[in-house]
Amino acid sequence: MANIVWHTKLRIHLDLTLDDLGHGEHEGLWDMVYGMDRMYAARAVPVAERDLQCGGVCQEAGVVAPMYLRMRNERREAVHERREDEDRHTVTISDEHKAYQERILRAAEAGGFRGDSEVRTRVGRSWIQTDTLIEGADGLRVGWEVQLSTAGIDGPRSVRARAAKAQRNGITPAWHTDRNDYAHRHDTQWTRSNNLPAHVIAKTGDLRVVSGFRKLDFWHCDLHADHPCPYGVRRCGKFHATPVPKDILFDDLVRNTAAGAVVPVQFRTLNKTHRFWATCADHDRYNDLLSNDDQLPAVTEDVRTPSRASHNPPTCRPDLTITSSATATPTTPQMPTPTSSGLLAVQLTGPAPETTAPQTIGESVLAGPGRSADAGPELLETLVELQRAANAARNALQGLSDRQERERQQHVLLEAAQRAQAAITRYATSQGLNRFDVQQTVQGAARDTQA
Ligand SMILES: [Zn+2]
Ligand SMILES: [Zn+2]
Repeated sequence: MANIVWHTKLRIHLDLTLDDLGHGEHEGLWDMVYGMDRMYAARAVPVAERDLQCGGVCQEAGVVAPMYLRMRNERREAVHERREDEDRHTVTISDEHKAYQERILRAAEAGGFRGDSEVRTRVGRSWIQTDTLIEGADGLRVGWEVQLSTAGIDGPRSVRARAAKAQRNGITPAWHTDRNDYAHRHDTQWTRSNNLPAHVIAKTGDLRVVSGFRKLDFWHCDLHADHPCPYGVRRCGKFHATPVPKDILFDDLVRNTAAGAVVPVQFRTLNKTHRFWATCADHDRYNDLLSNDDQLPAVTEDVRTPSRASHNPPTCRPDLTITSSATATPTTPQMPTPTSSGLLAVQLTGPAPETTAPQTIGESVLAGPGRSADAGPELLETLVELQRAANAARNALQGLSDRQERERQQHVLLEAAQRAQAAITRYATSQGLNRFDVQQTVQGAARDTQA
């Protein structure tokens, strides 16, 4: 049995868990579809020719699985015709897989982000099923798919299509595996960790990503260059980028992708497209290089990638990941909690606030503890104002193509975002509120009132 049926003629998914099958606009849809199926059955029309297929697990696996409908104890049921299709649904999630899901949620939470596992997101007439969906900064959503050794030898099918669909619908796909062969497919930005037992994955110690995250080397194609010219044997005098493998810890990857500080990259060579993750700053520089390779793309931000060598065994202290991520990134010393420092660590890649802009009114008001409770709404309004300023700076950046203008505006954005984030952190801490909730509220209010 399955809950989702694909009607091949009507070209809609029917969700059997809903009274109206998810299509309130078509009254009596169930009676019509069920009646038709019964009639086909009475006329001995083969199930495979009755327009109904599994629209869930089987369809995602790229399998056409014919189904028929029945009523059991007043419940609507869709039944696979073939036993092997039914079995596809009952594959239990392995302990390792579960451990990864939990680890992703925990790592995200430590960074101030929230998520959920086995999430079904409706998109139009269809939906996207995500292993673990993390709600990142500024409405960014990262959809984690974990494919481990226990999966079939062929690996997941139609990865490219599934990743593209997620992307189109605002979910950044993040596929993780412990298999070398999957990691070498170029259908999405695969990351890989070593094959580990569930109890190690579940622990809070270091879990290393061994491939899939890269740093971009930018270099001048002259006689002194280390790399060969990608366009031929001679030196062309242009600037090129070369991706270099780089270590990152899995928890940092989770948090940084949620913060938008690590992004998926498509890197094109003459005959191949490589897909991997890199810092947002590297990605920006790469885009600059694509538009002009006569000069070295400028470093627009203080690039501090969260990765570094670590010799911590996977059994280290529980607080280690938080501590290490805070030390590796330019957080400000006044950040009060590990949770908020985790978030800010990945979002604020610029100089520390005290070296940039003077404190704003909002910040100084928010800095001190022990204010009266009735000052709440006023303070919240200040947060919204700061967030609106950051949004405006971000919008302005999108319209700019000139490099210098962009750099200037990026600086403005960085400062505005820093101010807004720091104020949110202080407010949440002083009021004893969940930082994520405050951020969501503030961002929602800022969006609604944006000029
Ligand atoms: Zn199925
Ligand atoms: Zn060259």
